[in-house]
Amino acid sequence: MSAAPMLPVLPGTVSADGRPATLGVMGGGQLGRMFVHAAQRLGYFTTVLDPDPHSPAGYVSHHFIQTAYDDADGLAQLAAQCDAITTEFENVPAQALTALAATRPVAPGAAAVAIAQDRIAEKDHFVACAGISGVSCAPFAVIDSAAAVEAVPDALLPGILKTARLGYDGKGQMRIRTREELLAAWTALKQVPCVLEQLLPLKAECSVLVARGWDGGIVSFPPQRNVHVDGILAVTHAYESCMPAALAVQALAATRSIADHVGYVGILCVEFFVIDDGSEHGALVVNEMAPRPHNSGHYTLDACDVSQFDLQVHAMAGLPLPQPRQHSPAIMLNLLGDLWFDAQGQEHTPDWQAVLALPGAHLHLYGKLHARAGRKMGHLNITGADVAGVQATARRAAAILGLPGLEDH
Ligand code: ADP
Ligand code: MG
Repeated sequence: MSAAPMLPVLPGTVSADGRPATLGVMGGGQLGRMFVHAAQRLGYFTTVLDPDPHSPAGYVSHHFIQTAYDDADGLAQLAAQCDAITTEFENVPAQALTALAATRPVAPGAAAVAIAQDRIAEKDHFVACAGISGVSCAPFAVIDSAAAVEAVPDALLPGILKTARLGYDGKGQMRIRTREELLAAWTALKQVPCVLEQLLPLKAECSVLVARGWDGGIVSFPPQRNVHVDGILAVTHAYESCMPAALAVQALAATRSIADHVGYVGILCVEFFVIDDGSEHGALVVNEMAPRPHNSGHYTLDACDVSQFDLQVHAMAGLPLPQPRQHSPAIMLNLLGDLWFDAQGQEHTPDWQAVLALPGAHLHLYGKLHARAGRKMGHLNITGADVAGVQATARRAAAILGLPGLEDH
């Protein structure tokens, strides 16, 4: 049976059998939690499905279904409770989304999520879009056999070997210089299907968020510049001068075509590299896409009149998609679990008192009860009247907390 979308799902309405308009999300991490907050602010009830009884989104949702993502009963409950369903992470089983879509509007759809789950399919998608967008991905080869390792052209070395599936925050990746290292790395990655990408000379990284509706209408946030430390996003710069204007225009156009080409519905983030090609500003290369809100879009919560989570809600529910307006320059600082430990490895509470005294500092903690190195515990948005002021406050916050990633800026 194909989906029979009952759209729009208007907030605050109650069905004939007494059920309030409810939005559901697959996954209960911090992205799900911020989605729940946005949905509830509009008056929706919410349901979260996650196997973890202590999920950050589960704590704040009206309803919480604690089952595996492919549990037929859990999915049936979710469909029964919700008028529309979204996801907060790309590794939700695509079949689960397909099953839900038989009776409920699901955004994004299984096809788009399946592309983002698999770097090989994702690269094929980018190659198909490059003709329209003019932005290609890094030169790459699929590594799925010893013969494929042998056949790798020298031009791809040195490179980065990435597992096709389930990689995130730099996990499932190895840098290699030679063909021998490539074979050893592929063996270390258990010989699962991988892509080998040429190691590119990065000048910078950036990302673009767009929201696309059921009718194909698209709105976008301006591109933001991202700084990664050890493969994990550390800092996002979001203000007019954060990117050369010509590259920003090109990144935006490429993102729109990537969303259009797959008939995307929901909020989509596309990550880009700016590579050093000898030109003044460098050239754009598309890296990967996330079929959900993105860490690099968290600044929108405090710096824009609608956030990425607001637009996720609007898109799935079939509400209008207003063009967002950024009213303040912003810098986002990621707060990883490392902050909760001193040099001796003793756990302590970061100095929130000092951080919260800074004008324009907006602290977001995700309700995770245990800190671990590398675990995303929260983020700090800094907004202000002008870019120089925001940069100065961000540097002070980073100094108080001992945060990396602002050194060069
Ligand atoms: P993840 O899914 O972990 O985010 P990415 O493909 O985005 O994986 O890689 C993580 C980071 O590694 C990137 O943000 C970038 O800093 C670096 N990186 C990835 N691919 C390349 C490449 N081909 N050349 C240079 N740096 C790269
Ligand atoms: Mg990435």
